[in-house]
Amino acid sequence: LFYDIVVEPDASEGAESSAGARSARPNEGDGAGASSNAGAIGSAASPPQQGSSASAGSANFSEQDSPSESAPDEEDDTVRNPFAIPGIQKATIDSQLNSNYTFDRFIQGDCNRLARSASWAIAQEPGGTSFNPFLVYGGVGLGKTHLIQSIGNQAKETGTADTVLYVSSERFTTEFVQSIQRNRISEFSMFYRQIDLLIVDDVQFFSGKEKTQEEFFHIFNALHQSGKQIVLSADRPPREIDGIEERLLSRFQWGLSADVQAPGLETRIAILQRKAEDDQIDLDQEVIEFIAHNIKSNIRELEGALIRLLAHASLHQRDLDLDLAKEVLRDLMQDVQVNLTIEEIQRIVCEYFDINEDLIRAKTRKREVVRARQIAMYFCKEMTQHSLKTIGLHFGGRDHSTVIHAVKTVEDQVDTDTQFRDAVDQIGRKIELRSR
Ligand code: ADP
Ligand code: MG
Repeated sequence: LFYDIVVEPDASEGAESSAGARSARPNEGDGAGASSNAGAIGSAASPPQQGSSASAGSANFSEQDSPSESAPDEEDDTVRNPFAIPGIQKATIDSQLNSNYTFDRFIQGDCNRLARSASWAIAQEPGGTSFNPFLVYGGVGLGKTHLIQSIGNQAKETGTADTVLYVSSERFTTEFVQSIQRNRISEFSMFYRQIDLLIVDDVQFFSGKEKTQEEFFHIFNALHQSGKQIVLSADRPPREIDGIEERLLSRFQWGLSADVQAPGLETRIAILQRKAEDDQIDLDQEVIEFIAHNIKSNIRELEGALIRLLAHASLHQRDLDLDLAKEVLRDLMQDVQVNLTIEEIQRIVCEYFDINEDLIRAKTRKREVVRARQIAMYFCKEMTQHSLKTIGLHFGGRDHSTVIHAVKTVEDQVDTDTQFRDAVDQIGRKIELRSR
């Protein structure tokens, strides 16, 4: 648990600290519930002072328990829960950041320019820009986690924030629930209040979790009011996240929201080149371009293709050439598309637009049906191996030119209409998820 942490006493502790220290040993003897930290760090070795601490949460701790449990060689003033303890200056908090996620390794393109620039600005001056909170949103594998962790890594490295914490909203939720079970909500909440730069990933998972949202709401307010930086990510624009309280949703939109989109061809090439360089792989330009041309949906898959290519080359002792790339990618595409039927695509699209599936195959030319039909045709062409003719037949016996027209219409509208594009992206993800 995050809030079981080590604290470095400040130089002026002494009497003040030991007088103020309360043992941080939960009274339920929580061997099972406590993190490994709890055992390693133990509780205050100094004898607890009866009634010395009136701080919130102290009622939940049995002060008598602690001396017997502390390690003999421990510092007297090592306290597990520092909050509200006088004389404690700085908590050592593990930021939970992945050191590979840096700005240096993040390739910039049209797909992520605004999000990246804002992130950079925030890292220079956490809490000091108007981008607070800053929310990055976009589909799976498009670099949200990488980007928001870059802010944390950069801020730490350049010292613009002392305490940085990266946490997924799932972990936040789990730890919050545990803190309730262990009667340690105040520790939980105080822990978060001392963070200078709080990064919460995938906030859409807060959806439907009312108590967690309420807690997060208060933490959010406390941090925001004291000028601390909050960075969030979500898989869709905040307005579209269902099951989140209005007051929290509106706060998500106080600062700046920026999206990350699927990278264009040049960016995909640049990303592959950079990965190859980082891993010191000698890859021909034609191989890089071949992969970049064929894997479009997201960056994680781009990396996956590269890894797969390398694995094949080394396992089968083959040259890393275009032939091998073609073989490997053919397998990869088939993996994705195997079992995906036209009917399944129709079903998913109709579900998304909440229209009756029969209509998509019927003669009707109602606008929303036509739109769904065209999008479904588009995905059948993109994601299955069926011919245009076969696809047309599955849509109430339409001919292949209708399919061509549908595909073109969708492609054009994706270029000009962001709302439409978001819908198409979301449907694409739904189809991909079910076809694996
Ligand atoms: P998300 O959180 O949006 O699902 P991730 O941040 O986990 O996506 O990114 C997936 C993978 O792609 C990671 O390995 C990440 O390093 C890489 N990646 C994403 N965007 C970029 C980028 N712009 N440049 C380089 N690598 C990237
Ligand atoms: Mg992520």
